[in-house]
Formats: sequence, C-alpha cells, structure tokens
Amino acid sequence: SSLFDSVELAPRDPILGLTEQYNADTRPNKVNLGVGVYYDDNGRLPLLESVRKAELALVEAASARGYLPIEGIAGYNKGAQTLLLGKGSPLLESGRALTAQALGGTGALRIGADFLKQLLPAAKVLISNPSWENHRALFERAGFVVDTYAYYDAQTHGLDFDGMLASLKAAEPRTIVVLHACCHNPTGVDPSAEQWQQIVQVVKERQLVPFLDIAYQGFGDGVEEDASVVRLFVQNDLTVLISSSFSKSFSLYGERVGALTLVCSSKEESARVLSQLKRVIRTNYSNPPTHGGAIVSSVLNSPELYQIWTDELGAMRQRIRAMRQQLVDVLKARGISQDFSFVLKQRGMFSYSGLTPAQVERLREEFGIYAIGTGRICVAALNSKNIDYVADSIAKVIA
Ligand code: PLP
Repeated sequence: SSLFDSVELAPRDPILGLTEQYNADTRPNKVNLGVGVYYDDNGRLPLLESVRKAELALVEAASARGYLPIEGIAGYNKGAQTLLLGKGSPLLESGRALTAQALGGTGALRIGADFLKQLLPAAKVLISNPSWENHRALFERAGFVVDTYAYYDAQTHGLDFDGMLASLKAAEPRTIVVLHACCHNPTGVDPSAEQWQQIVQVVKERQLVPFLDIAYQGFGDGVEEDASVVRLFVQNDLTVLISSSFSKSFSLYGERVGALTLVCSSKEESARVLSQLKRVIRTNYSNPPTHGGAIVSSVLNSPELYQIWTDELGAMRQRIRAMRQQLVDVLKARGISQDFSFVLKQRGMFSYSGLTPAQVERLREEFGIYAIGTGRICVAALNSKNIDYVADSIAKVIA
C-alpha cells in the first residue's frame, strides 16, 4: 500500500475551475469576468512602462543574485511604507513602523497570521461576510478559528453598516479583524469616510486588533486617497498590521510582490516585533526573491518612474470607471427596469452585480460569459470590444 492511500482529493479552486471551463469554450465571443486581474482594453494583461523601464535598467546593471536580508530589500520596504503612511509622515522617521517584503499580499497575510498566532494563540479572527475567499482558509491554516462580521447588504447592494458595527461591538477584546482598506473584494462596496471614523472608534473601544488588507491601492480614488483608511487607524494611535499587495497595481502577479507593515507603539517595541517576524519568515521561506522586489523598489524610489507608474495606475483606474459607466448606460438604454446605478458607487476591480446564480448560469451557457456564482464580476475584464455584448446579454438574462 502507498503512504498516500488515505489522501483525499481536495476540492478544486472554484475560480480556477471557471477559467478552465472558459479556456475550453470554443465560442469566439466568450468573455471571462470571473478573473481577479486587470486586463487592458485589448483584453490583455498589461506590462507597465514603468516596470519595463525599471527592468531594463536592472538588466543593464546586471548584478549577482545573493540572498536578500530576511526582511527583504530596504528600499522596497521603505517605498511600501511610504505608500501607506504618506511622504513626510513623522512615523516614517520615528522607527515605530516596520515593513517586511513578502510573497504577495497572500504571503504578507500569512506571515502576519503566523506572528499573531504566537502572540494571541486563543484569539478569534473576523473577516467580512463575504470576503476574498482565501482570507478564511489562510487564517484557519494558521490555526485560528475564523468567523465573519456583517458587511454586504444584498437588498441595497451596499454596506450593512449597522450590522457591521454590531458584529464588531460584540467581539471579544483582542479579536483580530481583517478589514479591506479600499476596493473591497468581492463586493466593490467600501464604507464611507464617516463610517470608517466610527469603525475606528469601535475597534479602539473594543480593543480589537485591526489587520488591514490593501491589495488595490490606486484602483479606488488614487494612490494617496486609497491609503486614507490606513492613515486614519494610525492617527488614532492604534497598533495595526497591514498587508500590501503590488500584484495588481504593478501588474506583476507572478513576481509575488507584497509587504507586511506593522505600526507599533515605540521604536523599541518595533525592534522586538521585527525580530520575531524575522523568525517567522526564516522558518517559512528564509528570505524573499530578488527580481520583482528590485523592480518595485526602483519604481518607488525614482521620481521619474514613480510619475510614470502613478499615471499608468490612473489610466487603469479611469478605464475601469469608464467600463462601470458604460455598463450602467447600456443596460439603461436596453430598457432594463432594474436600477444598476450602484455599480458606479462600487470601487476597484470588482462588482457584486446582483445577478442570481441562475442568471450567472444562463450567461455562461447561452452567451459564453463567465462570472462567479455569487454574481461577482471583474469590471477590469470588460473592454470597448466586449462591453456591448456583455451588457446586451445581461439585459437578456434579467429581462
Ligand atoms: N487580499 C485581497 C483582498 C485580494 O483580493 C488579493 C488578491 O486577489 C490578495 C489579498 C492577494 O494578493 P497577491 O496576489 O498579491 O497574493
């Protein structure tokens, strides 16, 4: 008998499964709205000019690839921290904040989770209902019990703010609360600035542990604007963990570029925390890879490349916004009685479209348009060539 006889086949990832089905579809006008990546107007994954320039310069400079420090490239970490806290933030000089390069946003969440498990072995983790599907799995894998806080209101296609506050108020002190700092995945629904003020107050009063996940900085209202929630927590003297992902904002998915930042209460505390975080990293993968980190670091630390990058990010943001507008306009023009204007209020790459599982199935079977059963669509997969077809098809399935 084999050692692995008792190993069960794990269920396959629902999103990747959808992509396999899409790839096998032979209809020429098929559209995959199930993805979690930004495509350009030609339906292709972009290679950013800022990234290309940085990469060319790195190839020119042709350096050997030694091990990086456990916490990664210093310039990368400083750049990631500056994006979160803002240039000129006194925190940058205070030594209270520490950042470690991580293997994407996922890696940042995982090293943060492992660190927290040591610190708060009995704590519970709360994630939004719904949330990015890996949040639950990742914190459970780190040994936590994961529960949800109320978030999305299907009736209004908006935030169940009262429910959210009630869930947070009911949480035990030192409960870890995972919050999407901007561009909520999967719904696209974010709290308003005033609502965030109240959330921060509850987090403070209830002594909750905020873990902010920011995977779409720049896709909401702008690089600076989208960091406002992070800055609000920090200004309220909260110790906070922040996982950053640059996968989408640099279109560098496969390079695994992310960072974990912790804002501590003193410089001395920060040194102790970093020493423990380094142990977590050392026993997981020892140290991060060089290439993607070097690219991001070059862009963040060169005023010229930074300008190109923020312009490119701005263009991505504008394109998504235009697609939201066009989707709403075309549906209206088709005489759909249902009000879809909520799509314009949503932020980031995704929209909870309100489509039912049956409608999603019809879209797939009859029209070759692939969306997730929850009705989540990736607005960044719409483009000037497929938008009319998608909107027409949606109009048909909801008629
Ligand atoms: N957090 C959220 C909310 C996400 O949507 C994603 C990616 O889809 C991640 C984290 C992980 O990002 P990465 O691909 O950099 O690991």
